[in-house]
Amino acid sequence: MSTLPNIAWIGLGIMGSPMAENLLKAGYSVTGFTLEQDKLDRLAAAGGSAAGSIAEAVKDADVIITMVPASPQVEAISYGENGILENAKSGALIIDMSSITPQTSIDLAKNAAEKGIRVIDAPVSGGEAGAIEAVLSIMVGGEKADFDAALPILEALGKTIVLCGPHGSGQTVKAANQLIVAVNIQACAEAVVFLEKSGVDLNAALDVLNGGLAGSTVLTRKKDNFLNRDFKPGFRIDLHHKDMGIVTDAARNVGAALPVGAVVAQLVASLRAQGDGGLDHSALLRAVERLSGAQI
Ligand code: NAD
Repeated sequence: MSTLPNIAWIGLGIMGSPMAENLLKAGYSVTGFTLEQDKLDRLAAAGGSAAGSIAEAVKDADVIITMVPASPQVEAISYGENGILENAKSGALIIDMSSITPQTSIDLAKNAAEKGIRVIDAPVSGGEAGAIEAVLSIMVGGEKADFDAALPILEALGKTIVLCGPHGSGQTVKAANQLIVAVNIQACAEAVVFLEKSGVDLNAALDVLNGGLAGSTVLTRKKDNFLNRDFKPGFRIDLHHKDMGIVTDAARNVGAALPVGAVVAQLVASLRAQGDGGLDHSALLRAVERLSGAQI
């Protein structure tokens, strides 16, 4: 009989599905719940169990992993009579891997502690490809003992796994991550439009740029999106809009100025307002093209 903890997984989207499958490959038993039937079918096909509700998914779980879009969804799945806190065992450990406001993580940890349930915030970076390849960066906030308990599970999902401080710290670091990624994509998008309008071979240019100081994981992962104008998500503009709101707010609270981040946050918001919220964040290229005269 397996001595590995029983895992419940809530939120089997672009990230959650491949991550849960990596736990199945590592030998864990995973019971999942999410809103789309096809994602539940996918989990069952990979060897997991599909639950009909959050309560059913979490009732026998030692560890509950959550991967939903934003703070309102984390609150919806956690609280209330059908939520995780009412239905999980005392002593269970929640690993919330969603990217949400640090304050939501702090509040969740406090409310869960009243039920004897432990929580760490463990948002990730690395995108869909990083989730599939189990090479995510995972930034954790919470107690050291809970981090240590979660580590073997997180090692089946990622490669760089760091305890950043108390509850909410993982989210603060993730907010900084999203600032850096958005600014980097914007810089790459501006370079792409500049290079194309200059008549340079774009493929060759991006290859040589990526070998020098201008190179980045963003450029490596998004090069083909730029070249092929392939904006299938990936990471949706809608979610990056949410994250730019989180980092802008968190920075304001501590008196940090983000002048470039503020401009890029507006460009993300503008793309969304033009109906591109469902596209991958590499679609920031479309905003630069429009500003440069393209009718798209
Ligand atoms: P997604 O929209 O593809 O998936 C979210 C999932 O949450 C859906 O399957 C949905 O059914 C489920 N969900 C929502 N409300 C629910 C509820 N009440 N009960 C049960 N399930 C519910 O989103 P995603 O791209 O997988 O992102 C998830 C989180 O990870 C977000 O916070 C995002 O910012 C973060 N993230 C995403 C990426 C990426 O590249 N996609 C990378 C790093 C971090």
